[in-house]
Amino acid sequence: MLSRVLIANRGEIALRIIRACREMGIETVAVYSEADRAAPYLKLADEAVCIGPAECAASYLNIPRIISAAEITAAEAIHPGYGFLAENINFARICADCGITFVGPGVEAMRLLGDKVAAREVARNAKVPVVPGSDGAIKDEKEALKLAEKIGYPVIVKAAAGGGGRGMRVVHNDMGLRSGLAAAKAEAEAAFGDDCVYLEKFIVEPRHVEVQVMADAAGNAVHFYERDCSIQRRHQKMIEESPCPVLDEPTREKLCEAALRLIRQSNYVSAATVEFLVDKDKQFYFIEANTRIQVEHPVTEMVTGHDLIKWQLRIAGGETINIRQEDIRLRGVAMECRINAEDPQNNFSPCPGRIDAYIVPGGFGVRVDAFVHQGWTISPNYDSMIAKLIVHQNTRAEVIETMKRALREFVIEPVKTTIPACLEILSHNLFVKNKIDTGFVERTLF
Ligand code: ADP
Repeated sequence: MLSRVLIANRGEIALRIIRACREMGIETVAVYSEADRAAPYLKLADEAVCIGPAECAASYLNIPRIISAAEITAAEAIHPGYGFLAENINFARICADCGITFVGPGVEAMRLLGDKVAAREVARNAKVPVVPGSDGAIKDEKEALKLAEKIGYPVIVKAAAGGGGRGMRVVHNDMGLRSGLAAAKAEAEAAFGDDCVYLEKFIVEPRHVEVQVMADAAGNAVHFYERDCSIQRRHQKMIEESPCPVLDEPTREKLCEAALRLIRQSNYVSAATVEFLVDKDKQFYFIEANTRIQVEHPVTEMVTGHDLIKWQLRIAGGETINIRQEDIRLRGVAMECRINAEDPQNNFSPCPGRIDAYIVPGGFGVRVDAFVHQGWTISPNYDSMIAKLIVHQNTRAEVIETMKRALREFVIEPVKTTIPACLEILSHNLFVKNKIDTGFVERTLF
């Protein structure tokens, strides 16, 4: 069992991890930038260390400062949360070199699954269906054109190091591919310092369905079923739910088994998410694996009754998974709305600023994972997500009603937020009838 953990993150996920640690009797060390010096999560940690100025590169991404903070405070482990350093192999390696437990997978598994081209290879070896596409990175334009002809347009050019919906280009013909390839390479180089790209067939109107898995160092691995994250804008998730409302039992079982095969193939430890696209014929294709806890993990927690952060901490402390797969069951339906400080009427541009009024919803089946309060100033330096509203009920119809009620109760003023956008989606006939896919939001709403 771990005794003292440093949380190398901020905001709602820092608070979420601190809460889990407090319940487990684990001491916590929070870190913060100068912009976050009054953040409420700091008050709940046993210690708090300032790691630099507001800019991410100088604080939350500054590896020497974070490692120093862990050493000064005698933290034996670091939980990276999501974003920032969570998928940074160099950081995980330095933690290991310094004798600090990284709450996450080993360096080798991270390397294998973190690179999307390498992950496709792991998937193929594990007999997990992948989206038809290139076997490795694309070497040149000629190879790309030949491959596109073979798999058929439309195709999508993706960055091997990609994430957060960046470095992707959908192209419909040879001319589009020529320019898309160059643009995707440039974008990937700028965003990730790696211009390696690959091709995939563009699946038309799929659903995004991902499986939550957890593995320990003794080789045990279990899944916690799936989440449907088809409500996206610009490849970024807005609303997630579990279970996926269109999967039948045999497909669900096959999907979850496929995710476990991939995880076992890479000797994985800790939490991972295996992402798939599911097409109209219920065929599923692996797209990528995320080697961290995800933003949307609470929906899985609500339907399975398992605290996933606690599982990560137990496993990092050397415990084995002592539950059987058949003991993990789905109960009811859960949904999460991401509340971002963005203006839906102005192309979802970020809206930082001071919150003058803040009223959080509550009541039966409502969970709010947030970190702001009245008087808090949202910094332009960080991600615009300020809260996650999670609802758990017996049925999807009840979830939608409760979510709408809770969204209407949620007051965050005067900053603009995605609350009205979420309400519009939840009220849309096609969403209610569940006739949606990853293009639904952009095609019909925003
Ligand atoms: P990122 O790591 O940037 O999130 P992903 O590979 O997970 O990128 O893809 C994000 C989203 O982009 C998917 O949920 C889906 O909406 C879309 N997408 C990715 N690959 C394809 C594809 N081959 N066909 C259709 N849509 C895709």
